[in-house]
Amino acid sequence: MAADLEMTEIHWLMDMFNTVDVGLVVLDRDYKVCVWNGFMENHSGLLPSAVKDKDLFDLFPAIDEKWFRSKSESVFVLKNRSFTIWEQQPYIFRFKNYRPITGKADYMYQNATFIPLTNTMGEVSHICIILYDVTDIAVNKKELEDLNKKLEQVSQTDSLTQLANRGHWESTLRQEFLRTKRSEGCSTLLIFDIDHFKKVNDEYGHSCGDEALRHLSKLLRSALRETDMAGRYGGEEFVITLLDTDKEGASIFAERLRQLIESKPVSYKDLEINMTVSIGFACFSNEFKDHERWIEAADKALYYSKNNGRNKVTAYDDIEVVK
Ligand code: GH3
Ligand code: MG
Ligand code: MG
Repeated sequence: MAADLEMTEIHWLMDMFNTVDVGLVVLDRDYKVCVWNGFMENHSGLLPSAVKDKDLFDLFPAIDEKWFRSKSESVFVLKNRSFTIWEQQPYIFRFKNYRPITGKADYMYQNATFIPLTNTMGEVSHICIILYDVTDIAVNKKELEDLNKKLEQVSQTDSLTQLANRGHWESTLRQEFLRTKRSEGCSTLLIFDIDHFKKVNDEYGHSCGDEALRHLSKLLRSALRETDMAGRYGGEEFVITLLDTDKEGASIFAERLRQLIESKPVSYKDLEINMTVSIGFACFSNEFKDHERWIEAADKALYYSKNNGRNKVTAYDDIEVVK
């Protein structure tokens, strides 16, 4: 009777072992497969009879053998448990992901626990790997990270022009100010403002004005180098930090930008509207106590351009006499 019950219990255990939704694998000291449960069979497509006594690394050549052995050796030798998480190693066994909700992942993300199995002598003769499918968690976390990245981007971007908004641009300028000060480098800050922009709105309407701002931002982007940082400072005022650019380089850039904007009118409905900008720039100087003084200097140069006929470029250095 007792033996019957024991047999039944073993039967139950085997049923559970094969149905449980985690992978169970037992390996011997030579990394030969001894036990392979239903989860492993279903996901690998390999029957227990097909893997029994086979070398794990021959069966799954994609497993990083060196890493896997070093993980397992500490379990064999130190009799400690060992863990792997998907953030470090997305998976041990490359199984396809069939879950409909998490269909975004190509393969199953896995966490695993390695546990030592002792024989009657108390020696670790085998190890068991318990494999968890954590695809849902991994996909959720990745989606959340992607979303956070997008949110961060949106919070830094001006929605009309897709340039950096004032807050973001100013924080990058603050960093650039400190970096330039430390490295005694030369970077230049450039500010420009559309000339008589109010007229565009008054004559053609606000949405035409918006289109003009978008058009101008596109022109600006086309003129930038990878390392230049452009932003919308206010309504129709724009700013650019030109990294490692001295007065001569900034003059050339500003003049090219001025001519580009002058030569490319904005198309709105069947209209072509010409625009010009007034530009001021200030090269970094140790005289500036903080980045705000730097902005003020470039702004002064801009207003010099405004007061001297507009559609012009002025360097802060050149107005020193009237500062
Ligand atoms: P100035 O040459 O002296 O710069 O003349 P201005 O007309 O450009 O200067 P002012 O500061 O008087 O006018 C700026 C105008 O820019 C007023 C405002 O309606 C317009 N503006 C600011 N932001 C936007 C925007 O997002 N969309 C539109 N359509 N217009 C804007
Ligand atoms: Mg203006
Ligand atoms: Mg203005």
